[in-house]
Amino acid sequence: MTVAVVGAGLAGLSAAWELSRAGAEVVVLDAGRRPGGMIVTERHDGFIVEGGPDGFLAAEPDIQDLAREVGIGDRLVDQIARGSTLWTGRHLEPLPEGRAAELLGIQIPSEVGAQHAAPLQSGFRTFAGGMVEVVEALVARLAPRLRTTQGVTAVAPAQRGWRLSFTGASSLDAEAIILAVPAWVAARLLAGLGVSAARALDTVLYLPSITVSLAYRADQVPATLEGAGCVAAPDSGSAVRACTYAWRKYPNRAPAGYALLRAFVGPVDGDPAAIAHAELAAVLGIGGDPLWARAFHWPRGLPRYPHGHADRVAAVRERLAGRAPLAIAGAGFDGAGVSACVKSGREAGRVILERLRRG
Ligand SMILES: Cc1cc2nc3c(=O)[nH]c(=O)nc-3n(C[C@H](O)[C@H](O)[C@H](O)COP(=O)(O)OP(=O)(O)OC[C@H]3O[C@@H](n4cnc5c(N)ncnc54)[C@H](O)[C@@H]3O)c2cc1C
Repeated sequence: MTVAVVGAGLAGLSAAWELSRAGAEVVVLDAGRRPGGMIVTERHDGFIVEGGPDGFLAAEPDIQDLAREVGIGDRLVDQIARGSTLWTGRHLEPLPEGRAAELLGIQIPSEVGAQHAAPLQSGFRTFAGGMVEVVEALVARLAPRLRTTQGVTAVAPAQRGWRLSFTGASSLDAEAIILAVPAWVAARLLAGLGVSAARALDTVLYLPSITVSLAYRADQVPATLEGAGCVAAPDSGSAVRACTYAWRKYPNRAPAGYALLRAFVGPVDGDPAAIAHAELAAVLGIGGDPLWARAFHWPRGLPRYPHGHADRVAAVRERLAGRAPLAIAGAGFDGAGVSACVKSGREAGRVILERLRRG
């Protein structure tokens, strides 16, 4: 009998890693064509382009511990340029370190806040070849157990454990399940099982956003640019909410002599890349057109949790404890950061292992 992990984002892959290193039979199922979920790194012409997350707080241990376990600890790299500026709508002015994170809604997990008096002071970290390195390392270890284009449409009790149904009417029996899918997907699958408390998980709001990467020759960008990026004041009227100077923030994001910007754009009418370039050219003083642009659309991007979220998640977990082993994990439940997703996935793996041990 196997444990089925539904969702091959970072939470699902971390859960599968926790299970397989303990010797459990695992199968990881994802509706999409590639593993990694919101982690998307493209490498071309010597540029490293992040479509989703581009790093994590150096003070967050879980993703780094996992990286060391799967043999890529030496690929962790530190932020180089530090500090951000605020685009007021008229000019750029320096921002105190914590203020940029606050404006961007970056939440520091409570245990990280408790262990580090100033978690932002140690800056951010990423992987030398982009965030996808942690996905690639996990997939390499889990490879035969990963199945893509396997969208789970329903979960039902079976004689021993669960039966999962897929698009296309096939099915799979598993002794235990970890749902490492977005909250609205888990809400639907669990409500179908009669876990009515799970319907409330649908209240997690996934905010739409677009990330636009823009490549320039270094001489098109003013040498006087300061820090690792800029954030737009909420009343600045900008479509670009924030911009990371990716080639200054992390090593090797662009080849020598080139620059790479990454803009966060809210929902816009028109071409987000053209809008981002036009706004940034005016704010930063960029000369000429980008060499190329790449936009990643996230109709349901970063989750925002309504008041009472933790209690709702706890209530669902309590209901699940009385049934055959089934756990939930991921950004929809335990925090949006990539390190929080690793922690959430591994904890779900441990919960399932403990349930299977008890029989
Ligand atoms: C633009 C953007 C920038 C971000 N920047 C950062 C950052 O810099 N730092 C940071 O820490 N975090 C960042 N985040 C957040 C972080 O990337 C995510 O919260 C995290 O990657 C989510 O991981 P997950 O495994 O929980 O979910 P996901 O990555 O969403 O994975 C869920 C998986 O479930 C699959 N799935 C869905 N339904 C089904 C189904 N029915 N059957 C089978 N599979 C299904 C999906 O295909 C997907 O692969 C960012 C997010 C976005 C969108």
